[in-house]
Amino acid sequence: MRPRLVVNLNSSYYPVFRLRKSTMEKDVTASQHKHWRTTQERVEKYISDNLFKDVNLRGKLYPKAKEVDRLFHWGLPLGEKTWEKWTFKNITMQDFKPIKAGMAYGPLWSTHWFKVEVNIPEDWVQQEVWLHWVSQGEAMLWSAKGEPLQGFSPGGVHLSPVKGANRTGAMEPDQSRTDYMLSSCWSGSQETQVFYIEMACCGMFGAGADGMISPPDEGSVFQLEAVEVSTRDKLVYKLLTDIDVLHDMTVSLGSNDPRAHQALYTSNHMINSIISGNYSQASQLADTFFTKRNGDLAHTVAMIGNCHIDSAWLWPYSETKRKCARSWSSTVQLLEEYPEMKFACSQAQQFSWVKLHYPELFDKICHLVKAKRFIPVGGTWVEMDGLIPSGESFMRQFLYGQLFFKREFGALCEEFWLPDTFGYSAQFPQICKSFGISRFLTQKMSWSLFNKFPHHNFLWEGLDGSTILAHFPPGDSYELRVRVKEAIRTVNNLQDKGRVSTSAFLYGHGDGGGGPTRNMLERSRRLRDVDGCPRMEHMSPSAFFERLEAEQHNLCRWVGELYLELHNGTYTSQARTKKQNRICEFSLRNTEILLAVVAVKGRMKKEELLSHQDNLHDAWEKVLLNQFHDVIPGTSIGLVYCDADRLYKEALASSEEVQRACCPFLFKDPEKKVGEMVVINTLPWPMRQVMVVKEEGKHEVKQSAGEGQYYVAVEAPGIGWSKLSTSLSPPQVTVSFSNNRYILENQYMKAQVNTFGQVESLILAGDSQDVFRREGTHVGQGNQLVLFDDVPLYWDAWDTMDYHLETGKVLNIKESGCEVNEVEVVQSGPLVVKLRWGLKITEVSSITQEIELSAVSPYLVFRCKVDWLESHKFLKVLFNTALLARTATFDSQFGFVERATHCNTSWDSAKFEVCGHKWADLSEPNLGMAVLNDCKYGWTARGSTLMLSLLRSPKAPDAKCDMGQHTFSYALMPHKGCRDKTRVQRCAYEFNNNLTLLSTSVSHDSEVWFSLVGSGAMIEAVKLAEDKSGDVVVRVYESLGATTSVRLKVPSQPQRVCLCNGLEEPLSDLSLEVGEGLMSTAKFVVMRHCKVLCECPSLCSQGK
Ligand SMILES: [Zn+2]
Repeated sequence: MRPRLVVNLNSSYYPVFRLRKSTMEKDVTASQHKHWRTTQERVEKYISDNLFKDVNLRGKLYPKAKEVDRLFHWGLPLGEKTWEKWTFKNITMQDFKPIKAGMAYGPLWSTHWFKVEVNIPEDWVQQEVWLHWVSQGEAMLWSAKGEPLQGFSPGGVHLSPVKGANRTGAMEPDQSRTDYMLSSCWSGSQETQVFYIEMACCGMFGAGADGMISPPDEGSVFQLEAVEVSTRDKLVYKLLTDIDVLHDMTVSLGSNDPRAHQALYTSNHMINSIISGNYSQASQLADTFFTKRNGDLAHTVAMIGNCHIDSAWLWPYSETKRKCARSWSSTVQLLEEYPEMKFACSQAQQFSWVKLHYPELFDKICHLVKAKRFIPVGGTWVEMDGLIPSGESFMRQFLYGQLFFKREFGALCEEFWLPDTFGYSAQFPQICKSFGISRFLTQKMSWSLFNKFPHHNFLWEGLDGSTILAHFPPGDSYELRVRVKEAIRTVNNLQDKGRVSTSAFLYGHGDGGGGPTRNMLERSRRLRDVDGCPRMEHMSPSAFFERLEAEQHNLCRWVGELYLELHNGTYTSQARTKKQNRICEFSLRNTEILLAVVAVKGRMKKEELLSHQDNLHDAWEKVLLNQFHDVIPGTSIGLVYCDADRLYKEALASSEEVQRACCPFLFKDPEKKVGEMVVINTLPWPMRQVMVVKEEGKHEVKQSAGEGQYYVAVEAPGIGWSKLSTSLSPPQVTVSFSNNRYILENQYMKAQVNTFGQVESLILAGDSQDVFRREGTHVGQGNQLVLFDDVPLYWDAWDTMDYHLETGKVLNIKESGCEVNEVEVVQSGPLVVKLRWGLKITEVSSITQEIELSAVSPYLVFRCKVDWLESHKFLKVLFNTALLARTATFDSQFGFVERATHCNTSWDSAKFEVCGHKWADLSEPNLGMAVLNDCKYGWTARGSTLMLSLLRSPKAPDAKCDMGQHTFSYALMPHKGCRDKTRVQRCAYEFNNNLTLLSTSVSHDSEVWFSLVGSGAMIEAVKLAEDKSGDVVVRVYESLGATTSVRLKVPSQPQRVCLCNGLEEPLSDLSLEVGEGLMSTAKFVVMRHCKVLCECPSLCSQGK
């Protein structure tokens, strides 16, 4: 027997409240008792999905329900990895077998199709009718005609929503979407309803074995838990939402706020009304509450719907394509249902996938784009990493992105949208502006671990002085749920109070997809303008930024990079991906230059030229896709890196193919093959290099490279070629051994290397100062290999923490106890000196290294081959110099950035692991040292020490991250100090870009195709214009932070040369100098995009 609850009521007090007359109906009656918690929890339980559902309001939501009548299954054959080749029609013709809900499907990443047949009972006429699909895998609902209708998301909670789900009291505890409205008013038709449902065997966040970022559990199976239809009571749904929002206000405002009490009493009163059967009174009470408005000056929260979909992360690219369709089809429905809603959507690549695989859905999106409801933002191909891609890669992200948006939707994006990327290059403001974008949005800086960024709204000034307006939504998220506490936090957390009156509020489930939900939109209707909660207004990004622009005179300025004080391990994780990116960036640059030369010379047919251009465009798209903010940083599952590897290989193969096709056309007589060897240089200055060539008996062999090959020192002019036979005879490089050290010396430097491979002394030729030694004060060494413990707080592949620097162990010293193969001489001049040594890092990992000095290079090269099988270890190379430099300089996109070498402030201290590209430098006014590399991005500069990060070994989300063999190189370059940056930069380009040998027929000794006369500027790209006119775009940037004049020479007399913007639209003509070229002035790191309109015979004749 149940115990009886005996309540003693004060009989004179109680009836006064209970018996209020109907005249009072519109007023809220406060709860009888003043106990905050009991009343508040009463409200909570009354809408709970897992407590008292048999008697509460939630239990009344679906009054009638039944299982679907028939359910059939067919699984996509295993072994066929892709769903992409199966058409809907094809699928419906397969042999579907009857099944019952409750079965589990697998394996991970497989695809299963279900056919659902349902007859709606007659007595459901005029009711709202819903289909419920609850599966552990993400799913898409298709109409019988093959139209994608809506995505179903499992979220984290399962079981039947109709019969009683295992949920918390909140309306929307997770990312689940399990309902589809079959009809808002059932006609009574007895026709059998047929649907198809495509289920993917993966969850919203992949299938982490034990925790979200764990590597996927290959043994995962995915249950189909329930497939039901039901009626839904409209009024109950309204009341549930009303009470939910009132409860939200009660809890969010807290017991000190009178408005919280009003919300509490309203909801309590509503419950009493419902219990007494007076639903309309309950409804009215809520309506009255929600009409009490804010004051005139209340802060406005600009609600922007969005769905952040990672282009790959804990799932592969192929799943992302389906995620887009699931999320966007659901969004399209909501946009149709809620006319006030606006939805911002980024990443041209994702639009392009949907266009290809879901054309009907794409059509609907196009209509909504036209109506300015579905709003493309970002302007880039993908939401890329903000640090690792080269300047040219950033240009292509915007170029391909913006051109796609313009082509498909007739307009460019107006906002740079990168909410989830791990740090932002100082070069972004300039790049944005050249693509017509002057607004920027992110929220990721709120993740910084050490310092709170001082603004949510500011003018962001980049490397060249370009400024754009930046906004960080103060809710610190792109995944808000339209909750009162989020709106209140948006205002309370705002760093620029009193300066702005509007803040963006990005709502909608994200990362794994999902987007806004009906419940969010229902809540937003109640919170539009209600006293106690900031005013919430649906707004497009553009309308929001317009408001911000009106207030930008109030804003502060932030100069330089936006450094995220977290995720610094991403400069190193997945080393092969970063290396392939670097290789592809250089290869595509070179191929484009050669194709442009061919175009200017007019020797190739236009169709052929344009087809090569298309191939390069495709190759670039692959590289750009892999620059997504979870791929190139190294934070995706292993499967993603298989895809990335394949895409890089395809891109590189295309690039090389086009290069091969171009080569014959570079020279006068492509048909005549005489076999003259020429050396091609794609850098815009004369470059010298010692190359290895086949021994053919023609040349006097000075140094054999073994296996029938020999070394030859060559020079080729800037973007041009020379004959190999005009090779150089430079002063020789030598090696000697004394005092237990190898002394390597060429015309530029003298280096001393000990038997463990450490550089103990480095002196410029003709100088006496030593990079590593100061008499009496400092004895340092370079090329110290150091192994650190690398255990982050949580985000394994993402983070390396400050404390890892306390655990370093130098490997190549006697005291380390490591087994070392001491240095031996492999080549001893006169063109190349090579030492070789090796080391067992641990029982399972080892390194062999060749230290090389050529007769023509001002740097000492270290070529490494590493077998790496570590766990949570970090390998770096350390250069402990004698230099006193308060800042270190790091190569970045179209320029360089300086960062402190000390820890004076918490901001300096947080930069213990930073991103840099091809070089980093420590300099005094008269002596400096740069370290160059061919594929690395992580650096530490502290005091006189510079470290380059080589390999990490995180275990999540890819258990095999960076395991296996690696090859990479770095180089040590002494120089004359701060003023020698041009040379450092040039050498870094040369270190990444070899001269190319080619056999052809030529009539003269050398030729210059494109060149710059004047110093400090760099030709980053020479490419065919995107408009397919055959015109050539030359991208030049000033690299030193100076004002300079340069003269651009082109291979033949151009028709016209003009400056253009990033979109390659002409801005103004440049004056042409008689006979050869033009003058151009480049200011502090300002890029100049010059469009060279060519008079190419072949193009003109074909109606260019
Ligand atoms: Zn993301």
